[in-house]
Amino acid sequence: MQTKTALITGITGQDGSLLAKHLINLGYRIIAPTRKNPDKSNLNNLGIIDSSLIEFLIYKQFSDFEAIIAQHKPTEIYHFAAMSHVGQSHENPAVVFDVNCNWTLELLASVIKNSPNSKFFFASSCEIYRNDLPSPVREEDEKRPNNPYGISKLSAHQMVDYYRLVKGLFACNGILFNHESELRPASFVSKKICSNVARLVKSGGKPLTLGNIEAKKDWGYAPDYIKIIHEIMQQKNAQNYNVSTNKLYSVKDMVNAAFSALNYEISWQGEGIKTHAINSAGDTVVSINEKYFRPLDNRFLRGDNSKIKQFMQNHSQTPFTQWVKSMTLNEYKLLN
Ligand code: GDP
Repeated sequence: MQTKTALITGITGQDGSLLAKHLINLGYRIIAPTRKNPDKSNLNNLGIIDSSLIEFLIYKQFSDFEAIIAQHKPTEIYHFAAMSHVGQSHENPAVVFDVNCNWTLELLASVIKNSPNSKFFFASSCEIYRNDLPSPVREEDEKRPNNPYGISKLSAHQMVDYYRLVKGLFACNGILFNHESELRPASFVSKKICSNVARLVKSGGKPLTLGNIEAKKDWGYAPDYIKIIHEIMQQKNAQNYNVSTNKLYSVKDMVNAAFSALNYEISWQGEGIKTHAINSAGDTVVSINEKYFRPLDNRFLRGDNSKIKQFMQNHSQTPFTQWVKSMTLNEYKLLN
């Protein structure tokens, strides 16, 4: 059988590095364009940094991808690279739009011109949905994002639809709900919670300070989602899929799960902004600070995941408490 080639944008990020590991196990050759001097710590942590199956290339601008696609004609293209922080997108909407939408469009145009048989996957986002829709939301439900990140992702998502429906490209949107792992950067609440809980249990110190702990998300485990994404690309027809668990957990649930992973008892006291958690000695271990609250952070959306159920017989989903435990134990181990 001929070796498959995958081009991954964003290979150094959480999803890119996890996918690279999965594809290496499946025998793919990987083309990995990065900026100069990228941080390859995720690839290092996964033990694949020196894999002979990964060919790293340096790109300077989005237009450099045209030559890369023309030369390699990848079997599959996974476009993960993005400005991925919803909160921060309010500060720099023009940059977010350029990276998340214009770059996707450049890639699609280049694929149709230079390698029309390549399959294309775009990491779309649950942030594209109207935020007051009844849950669970389905792929065809109304889109109306309320932050620059969601707006940029929706525009790119619609370009992917256009290239599939009008130009005939095998192009899929994976509408990814929040997905976490040991490789999440510190700006995401999962990493912030798990690393601070590990530190508090190990050596105490100042409390973990959070924003809206009542915010609820449909949270999944990234290594599970990567396998589903690969399956999406093996189907006969290109389609859009929610990649979700159809379950909601709050930020507070995550804090409880992280402490309980290390058998550390806490109890919650107070209300609203004064809510805090104390340990058995009466010391405050979690507090709230308004500076971490988001504008319009009221999206308690669950994703209907019926369409991906067909892939989940082979790839079961890790339960919430289990992956929070895994992330917390990993952080605890790093402190030793
Ligand atoms: P996002 O959904 O892609 O923005 O992922 P995050 O992990 O950054 O945030 C998930 C949820 O946690 C959002 O609803 C945030 O408002 C909420 N949250 C509560 N406290 C914090 C915090 O201290 N930091 C972050 N990043 N999010 C927080």
